[in-house]
Amino acid sequence: MAMIQDMMPTFELFQPASVADAVALLAKHGKDAWVLAGGMDSLDWFKDRVKRPRVVVDLSQIKELRGIRQQGDGVEIGAMTTLTEVATSSLIQSRYALLAQAARKVATPQIRHQGTLGGNVAQDTRCWYYRGGMPCYRAGGNTCYADTPTAMNREHCLFEADRCVAVSPSDTAPALIALDARFVIRNAKGERTVPAEEFFIGPKTDITRMTVLRPGDLLTAIRIPGTWAGARFYFEKVADREAWDFPLVNVASAMIVDGGVIKQARIAVGGVAARPLRLKAVEDSLKGEKPSEDVADLAGRTAIWGAKPLNYNHFKVLLMKNLVKRAVRGVKV
Ligand SMILES: Cc1cc2nc3c(=O)[nH]c(=O)nc-3n(C[C@H](O)[C@H](O)[C@H](O)COP(=O)(O)OP(=O)(O)OC[C@H]3O[C@@H](n4cnc5c(N)ncnc54)[C@H](O)[C@@H]3O)c2cc1C
Ligand code: SF4
Repeated sequence: MAMIQDMMPTFELFQPASVADAVALLAKHGKDAWVLAGGMDSLDWFKDRVKRPRVVVDLSQIKELRGIRQQGDGVEIGAMTTLTEVATSSLIQSRYALLAQAARKVATPQIRHQGTLGGNVAQDTRCWYYRGGMPCYRAGGNTCYADTPTAMNREHCLFEADRCVAVSPSDTAPALIALDARFVIRNAKGERTVPAEEFFIGPKTDITRMTVLRPGDLLTAIRIPGTWAGARFYFEKVADREAWDFPLVNVASAMIVDGGVIKQARIAVGGVAARPLRLKAVEDSLKGEKPSEDVADLAGRTAIWGAKPLNYNHFKVLLMKNLVKRAVRGVKV
């Protein structure tokens, strides 16, 4: 256990003014470097002395990473755009209310003012054994403290456990998957874009990471196509408290309904696996259907197929079922 709060170990701080300089620094320092955005997740790690990077690359001086701009029939949001800016942008509110609502549900106004969209999707899991410095699988050890007969695992996963049973904590991630966003990543070799759904990874792929980002990678922007602009949206987050709390389960859906019939649907759920899950089987079951009570009920039941609860999180199965059902039935955003 390495918990010594408030005394941050020293590191070398760089504050580049351009993406090119930031990428060069990340390439030079590789695994020793840590990307600092709003610091809402990063500073906790540093103060708890659980993560001790030798080099910190602070993105706060890079203007090109900020802002929301129209791009073709969609939008591009710079990775350093704050969650408050995303939640209050008239462009996002009018065309992608799903994302505005998800951003508004993150933590508190203070955290949303400082926390960025890029940081929100790149943040680490909140499993408290791991955050407390326990040497679990995810931390490079040989056990999972959350998956023992006496472990507290009320907040942990229902799906895709593979040694680790931690969950993805981001509220904006399911909304970005439902909106078919693409994540723009730069490194010394160039630029690539990754669909939101593939940006997040589970422990089977790599137990030490929650996203495809590797040392040297910088998330520069998130692009949302016009496909779902103005669609019928639903976002709901259930947490133990209204503020300062991560989702137990959240759901984001986008549907195009024409002539009373669902033409296209996207649904993603967070808080139930190490990555936000897109529910393809549910989406398929909705196509061509009229949004009715029976269709919503079937969607909820399909969503939880294969769920494997732990000792203390059986309630999440019913919660997830009902949230998916409500997403099909309602228009909450
Ligand atoms: C008390 C509290 C409650 C919270 N509640 C919620 C909640 O309800 N819902 C929710 O979704 N979140 C919640 N959060 C998390 C918070 O929203 C995120 O920690 C925050 O958005 C992270 O953003 P940041 O800009 O501060 O990133 P940082 O903390 O600076 O970075 C987070 C991680 O992302 C990496 N990173 C950041 N930007 C980039 C980039 N551009 N390229 C590559 N890597 C990058 C960093 O290296 C770091 O690993 C809460 C946090 C706190 C402290
Ligand atoms: S759930 Fe994952 S992060 Fe938490 S103790 Fe187990 S291995 Fe570690």
